[in-house]
Amino acid sequence: MRIIEPSFTILDELDQQSLPVRIEYCGRICYKSEHRIDRDSAIPFVKKMAEHGHNSVLEMGVVTLVVTCSKPDTIADLFFCQPKFLQIDHLAPQRLLITGSIRAFREMRLTSPQDAISRAIALFLAERHPYFFETLPIDSDLTRPVGISIEKMGLREVEQLIAPQCARHRHLAVKFIVNRAVTHELVRHRPCTFLQESQRYCRYSADKFGNEVTFIKPIFFAEGSEEFRIWKATMETTEAQYLRLLETATPQAARTVLPNSCKTEIIVYTNLVEWRHILFLRTSKAAEPSMREVMIPLQHQLHQRYPVLFP
Ligand SMILES: Cc1cc2nc3c(=O)[nH]c(=O)nc-3n(C[C@H](O)[C@H](O)[C@H](O)COP(=O)(O)OP(=O)(O)OC[C@H]3O[C@@H](n4cnc5c(N)ncnc54)[C@H](O)[C@@H]3O)c2cc1C
Repeated sequence: MRIIEPSFTILDELDQQSLPVRIEYCGRICYKSEHRIDRDSAIPFVKKMAEHGHNSVLEMGVVTLVVTCSKPDTIADLFFCQPKFLQIDHLAPQRLLITGSIRAFREMRLTSPQDAISRAIALFLAERHPYFFETLPIDSDLTRPVGISIEKMGLREVEQLIAPQCARHRHLAVKFIVNRAVTHELVRHRPCTFLQESQRYCRYSADKFGNEVTFIKPIFFAEGSEEFRIWKATMETTEAQYLRLLETATPQAARTVLPNSCKTEIIVYTNLVEWRHILFLRTSKAAEPSMREVMIPLQHQLHQRYPVLFP
């Protein structure tokens, strides 16, 4: 067995990648199959995710669009469709700033096929990324709506928006390596997208996991103490029983004996407004100490990047 410290990484480098590359990277955390990433793997991977309904993977790619309409009714029509999971701001009377994930835009196309802005956005995205839209069970007649123009806004411009707009539209992904109790708490934050290492698919007896289970060092027990010795002995026994079960059972069956201390990788992707909310709750003295262990240093890093938003 292996014991490691918890950690986190802000996934800046993913922001420089294309949508399929970032979505593939995030999606493969579930299977811990990052070693399968190569120059040509991203598009087949995202197509497979779309076909199989592994929908949250398609939430890991977010796009910000500036939508300009010549007729005022067009914007009112969009709001009557009650678009879900989008950030929408008015930049000017006839101009909207809309941020959403590929999943949100796919579902907007499905649920509001007659709406002009939905159609224009689907057309704009499908021209650039056909693989995200070709599996949708809709007719392929995407006639370009008249009087609507769409432009993509790059991340650099998003960061230059006034603070409240930047906070709503700038999304940031953070990868945590923490214990299973912390991931259970993280996934309670509803406005986020999550992808996490799956104990159903990961077989820790495999070579790529070093044929062993990895545990997160508990913050509660000092190394060398009697409590730490009890914890470590329990993990050793649990690992032995898990590996024994795997001789005849599947990972999803054997995982039923795995404890909260099990190491889990999770990517949390959300906008800065929600990060502020998460940090407010999860750095307070009332929060679980293992959660504070990663959230307090994350708060420091975000303060350095966005001092106005994270004072
Ligand atoms: C110290 C602490 C102790 C806790 N103890 C427990 C416990 O014992 N048992 C337990 O089950 N949970 C517990 N929780 C979890 C807690 O109840 C929340 O589920 C979790 O912190 C998610 O935060 P949230 O609900 O504020 O907002 P999020 O889910 O992060 O949502 C962000 C914002 O979106 C809005 N929002 C999202 N969904 C809705 C909705 N359906 N209706 C209205 N507004 C919405 C709200 O404005 C909210 O502030 C605890 C959390 C903390 C920090």
